[in-house]
Amino acid sequence: SEMDVDTIWMDGEFVDWEDAQVHVLTHALHYGSGIFEGVRVYDTDNGPAIFRWDEHLDRFYQSAKPYDLDIEFTREELTEATVELVDRQDLRSCYIRPLAYYGYESLGVSPGDCPTDVAIAAWPWGTYLGDDALENGVDVMVSSWRKHASSQIPTNAKTTGLYVNSMLAGEEARRNGFVEAIVLNKEGNVAEGPGENLFLVRDGELYTPGLSESILDGITRDTVITLAEERGYTVHDNVSISRGELHTADELFFTGSAAEVTPIKQVDNVEIGNGGRGPITEELQTAFFDLVEAGDREEWFHYV
Ligand code: PMP
Repeated sequence: SEMDVDTIWMDGEFVDWEDAQVHVLTHALHYGSGIFEGVRVYDTDNGPAIFRWDEHLDRFYQSAKPYDLDIEFTREELTEATVELVDRQDLRSCYIRPLAYYGYESLGVSPGDCPTDVAIAAWPWGTYLGDDALENGVDVMVSSWRKHASSQIPTNAKTTGLYVNSMLAGEEARRNGFVEAIVLNKEGNVAEGPGENLFLVRDGELYTPGLSESILDGITRDTVITLAEERGYTVHDNVSISRGELHTADELFFTGSAAEVTPIKQVDNVEIGNGGRGPITEELQTAFFDLVEAGDREEWFHYV
């Protein structure tokens, strides 16, 4: 495996990489009945810290609700497991992947007596969208695939099965020579990336699709809204954004735990602004990286 992991936490125990196995008749493997999180640990000036762990844990338990997944571990137990996982592998910065899913018991669509299994892995992960993406931005295409509507599946839950849609959109983009996709919702408005939220800058103000646009309520989205407002920017975070507004934006950028703050330089081969990282994007990106380097906003950092 390309992943440099030797220990994985599974259902209360630390197991070796090669023993972290599931049965092929695992319910979630057949029906996508799992929920997960993606979290980063930053090597801050005060030592390694999990960024916004409380909010990720909140979303983890909330994602489980519509599927009636019964996570039998408390927040404290999952926190302890995660801290130990990072510690045992001597990781100073890494990505953390908590997962809860219907395991093996019966294979009807109804999960019946399937157990809710829980696992956590941690591994080093660099920039999500390529090494020069943070500085120079990425080229994206508007996918021909639409996002699930929130009337079809809870789009505010981070469900494993949802990500086949993300995979289709992302792979379509990459087959066409782009780095990533932008996905429209069922109404045809801009929703988000396959694994990122999206921000638009116009006339010095920020716009990002509202929660009713079938997006995931991103934690980095919230971080960036907070950082922008603290710097005096107006953020319109409850709007619909039409496809055409992408091309006429002054700046565009993605946010996400994996993608962090990634500028978008072209959409469908049309240059956005000057076709590079815009000044407000750069200011907020710098604010974001300064924050996770300093680690000095106590409520957002859980030191390991
Ligand atoms: N939208 C989708 C579909 C995602 O998968 C992610 C990544 N979790 C995001 C947005 C960004 O969310 P966050 O900032 O919480 O990572």
